[in-house]
Amino acid sequence: ARFARLRIAGFKSFADATTVEILPGLTGVIGPNGCGKSNVVEALRWAMGEANARNMRGTEMEDVIFAGTAGRASRNLAEVTLTLEETLGLAPPPFHEAADLEISRKIERGSGSSYRVNGKEARARDVQTLFADLASGARASAMISQGRVGALVNARPEERRALLEEAAGITGLHARRHEAELKLKAAEQNLARADDLKGQIE
Ligand code: ATP
Repeated sequence: ARFARLRIAGFKSFADATTVEILPGLTGVIGPNGCGKSNVVEALRWAMGEANARNMRGTEMEDVIFAGTAGRASRNLAEVTLTLEETLGLAPPPFHEAADLEISRKIERGSGSSYRVNGKEARARDVQTLFADLASGARASAMISQGRVGALVNARPEERRALLEEAAGITGLHARRHEAELKLKAAEQNLARADDLKGQIE
């Protein structure tokens, strides 16, 4: 898959809708300190399903919404849309036949965030699994943020294992196993309940 475009609106320092085209090859983002370079990468990570507000340099997820400046009123809505190209056969169903994917995440003050994949409502977990799957294989996408290299060197063995699993693209399998285990537990409870009822009838 190729990350082709990022549309950012009302997110952090991006009060107005801004489109960043990601062309083939190396892309650099330049500008003075504090102009919002890191916010571009954070927008990308947020659209990919980042669930921890602290990884977004905030305390609440709503902190990503444009908070206003001396001359501009704050916003109530932030939306980031990421366009991926050449995704045929790479995403999990029902998106495995799509040649392009448009993943968007939106957050509104007071009502939390929601996701869409090619216009269809999706859960955070679906989007996370989708990117975990895309990270497998030779064309893996990886996100290495400031301080991460040092963190890898100093990490405890189990933390390093988690990073390696992420790089190997098997993180999505853990999430699926967890989901399957929850379903199994619910089914077992239903069975036990059915047995109880049967016992009462007999
Ligand atoms: P540096 O390289 O020094 O880290 P940078 O270009 O990466 O700088 P960022 O850290 O991405 O800059 O951007 C920080 C800027 O974004 C600050 O000016 C900050 O005020 C602004 N900002 C962050 N969150 C919001 C928000 N919710 N609303 C408005 N502005 C915000």
